Amino acid sequence: MTKWVYNFGGGKADGRSDMRDLLGGKGANLAEMSTLGLPVPPGFTISTAVCTHYYDNGRRYPDDLNAAVEDAIGGVEKRLGMGFGDSTNPLLVSVRSGSRASMPGMMDTVLNLGLNDETAEGLAKKTGDRRFALDSYRRFIQMYSDVVLGVDHFLFDDVLDSVKRANAYTLDTDLSAADWEDVIEGYKRVVADETPSGFPQDAREQLWGAVGAVFGSWQNQRAITYRRLHNIPDAWGTAVTVQAMVFGNMGNDCATGVAFTRDPSTGENVFYGEYLINAQGEDVVAGIRTPQALTKASRENAGSKMPSMEEEMPGVFGQLVDIRTRLESHYKDMQDIEFTIQQGELFILQTRNGKRTAPAALKIAVDLCHDGVIDETEAVSRVEPASLDQLLHPRLDPDAERNVIAKGLPASPGAAAGIIVLNADDAEARAGRGEIVILVREETSPEDIHGMHAAAGIVTTRGGMTSHAAVVARGMGRPCVSGVGGMRIDEKSGQVMVAGHTLKTGDRLTIDGGTGEVMLGDVETIQPTLSGDFGTLMGWADKHRRMRVRANAETPADARTAVSFGAEGIGLCRTEHMFFDQERITEVRRMILSTTEKARRAALDRLLPMQRSDFVALFTIMRGLPVTVRLLDPPLHEFLPRSDGDFADVAQAAGVDVPTVRHRALQLHESNPMLGHRGCRLGITYPEIYEMQVRAILEAAVEVARESGDTVIPEIMIPLAFSREELDILKSMIDRVADEVGAGTSLTYLVGTMIELPRAALCANKLAETAEFFSFGTNDLTQTTLGISRDDSSNFMGPYVDQGILDRDPFATLDQEGVGQLVRMGVERGRETRPDIKLGICGEHGGDPDSIGFCEAVGLDYVSCSPFRVPIARLAAAQASLKSQRPGD
Ligand code: PEP
Ligand code: MG
Repeated sequence: MTKWVYNFGGGKADGRSDMRDLLGGKGANLAEMSTLGLPVPPGFTISTAVCTHYYDNGRRYPDDLNAAVEDAIGGVEKRLGMGFGDSTNPLLVSVRSGSRASMPGMMDTVLNLGLNDETAEGLAKKTGDRRFALDSYRRFIQMYSDVVLGVDHFLFDDVLDSVKRANAYTLDTDLSAADWEDVIEGYKRVVADETPSGFPQDAREQLWGAVGAVFGSWQNQRAITYRRLHNIPDAWGTAVTVQAMVFGNMGNDCATGVAFTRDPSTGENVFYGEYLINAQGEDVVAGIRTPQALTKASRENAGSKMPSMEEEMPGVFGQLVDIRTRLESHYKDMQDIEFTIQQGELFILQTRNGKRTAPAALKIAVDLCHDGVIDETEAVSRVEPASLDQLLHPRLDPDAERNVIAKGLPASPGAAAGIIVLNADDAEARAGRGEIVILVREETSPEDIHGMHAAAGIVTTRGGMTSHAAVVARGMGRPCVSGVGGMRIDEKSGQVMVAGHTLKTGDRLTIDGGTGEVMLGDVETIQPTLSGDFGTLMGWADKHRRMRVRANAETPADARTAVSFGAEGIGLCRTEHMFFDQERITEVRRMILSTTEKARRAALDRLLPMQRSDFVALFTIMRGLPVTVRLLDPPLHEFLPRSDGDFADVAQAAGVDVPTVRHRALQLHESNPMLGHRGCRLGITYPEIYEMQVRAILEAAVEVARESGDTVIPEIMIPLAFSREELDILKSMIDRVADEVGAGTSLTYLVGTMIELPRAALCANKLAETAEFFSFGTNDLTQTTLGISRDDSSNFMGPYVDQGILDRDPFATLDQEGVGQLVRMGVERGRETRPDIKLGICGEHGGDPDSIGFCEAVGLDYVSCSPFRVPIARLAAAQASLKSQRPGD
């Protein structure tokens, strides 16, 4: 026979804390605390297996459940000497949900269950406090009718308001017992009007109604959405815990509160929490009254006059401090504890690992390890890699007021406040004058790079998580909110229309790239601090990681940031970004506008020394660490201007006439540029462009090796190839240039390719005959595998994820089911041909913790990501490595 119900209480329990799968987090921890001898009100947990059975059998319970529940109720009655539904000494219970993963506030709860007209009177007599009994009863009617019977709670508010109005009361505490009687009659009338059979008086009917509602709430929209966001499987189900009520609202020797064993914001090892005298748990949550501090020290810190629990109830406080120590050393982690004090007696209602900020997570993990409570590997696995983002960018002061006027995608974390500018040149000019600017564009293109660099933050009205703006902003560590659908830009009039506001150039905005919020005016920011704990934990992570971590970087500033965050090389240097520099763009445009190879070569000759100096700078900063330089990738038209006014400027600078520029721009126009004349197709058709770049790379390598004595082994990367033939043609050009440059030196280099197209993955065994390394360009590989434009996906990705068609935005987290197969195939086929082929990833997924887990599983040698994500990748790689070593994973 299956055991459906697990009892706890009185120093004993059927369950344990490692039975979360069956009992949910709440049920498992209540069982464990009970066995530890902590003061837990007795009760029982109906397991998640019942939930699964319920949904598998058309919402019917197992046949033997009723008997098991009756038994369990009998046990609680006996332990407390009370009767469920008994009119003189009534047992009241709470009915609460609890799943394996904590889903705070997503499912339903019913308190004070078991009250009816008779038991309310019984409770009044027993406690000698009729007002308390009736207050509890009316709370129960409202909560039960709302949660179980689906009666709108505002109907109850109307009743309460009218009683208050009739008596000219302002506060609930003004109501007498007789007033509550009126309220209860009003409430019951509401339920009778709104439901077929009115409010149930039978305690057992109430109990089964509440149990059904909790199981039902597993499938409410809130819970479904929460599960989708947190990757919690539907099949887990929830447990239901039924527990004897204790009351924090029976007088001034009663209280309810929440305590954290350490400070959840800072991680400091101080007891932290709040409590409310004469209140029930929901009052704390509802925020009607301001709770008081637990400790004297925190009361003094907050400058509060309201006494702390330490001062007001020293005896119970002492017990709570003792429980704090016991729970933390038992669970070996910071605990979030809910407690109630009933007439001077302390009860613990819940404990769980407490949620915490990133700095707190680091401090707690490091402190617990230093105290010998956990080891280094456990400390490393305790910190959420993505949360480190909070430490790596300036962020908004959480206490500051904010006036949010729009929301877009959280494309690049961090916060910035500044004035609105609508184009890149203006951004650069104003930043040059010391102004702090927010660049607001419909979408950015590579020609906006200088403006993006000059801006403190970027907002775009179009584009997704891997749109140009998002990728570049993350690379630069600039906060960015992309795809703000509700915003419209009129560049001509210099205006931005959003949420009924008309803003203009020079108006102030604040953006939060971590949440996607756009706010009017200024919101205070806090600078990042890389604390000692951060460094310590990263050191431990590095010891346990197999994969290397590199950065995507092209400017000296980015490369320096990358090195300071611990990057072990550059995995992607996008050379096109170097072409947009003010000085060079003219030569680049001259080169593009040339109609003969001779003229093109002349322009390239002028670009060569500039490009060489770029690589000298990079190789010097990287001091012998590997640097992968990608040859030119974007279609040439991206370098040409778009508007008539710009045509004239370019024509003048390039020494040609306007019609020539316009004609060339027209010639280069493509219907699908992402699938057009780009990547190595440029190198095949204009070999002189790649030749110049290769020469610049190799000459720089020779120069830096000579000057610094470091070994410089550049990795030359060919983009967007799908065949060995493309690689062969380009490799022989590279070898020829190397012969010319390296004569008489010990120049060494590698030639490899990106895997960005399905055909490249399918034919990886062929490509590996020539390529000495692969770098998976999963931005383009995702785009070409799903047939979804990375720049336009924001228009429909939301509904796709909401409707469960895709679990997550595949441009942010690798689509393992689809694109992942191609990556796996590329790895296997590449190694078949060349067992020691070097394998990495440089798409945005290289900085995403879940995708990094996948990279570990398929055996990549390294991941490469934006400099600001390097610490996240280091930690995620360590966790993935540790996970792969654990048996059973
Ligand atoms: C990619 O496609 O994944 C990649 C890294 O190249 P880019 O983003 O420059 O197209
Ligand atoms: Mg690409």
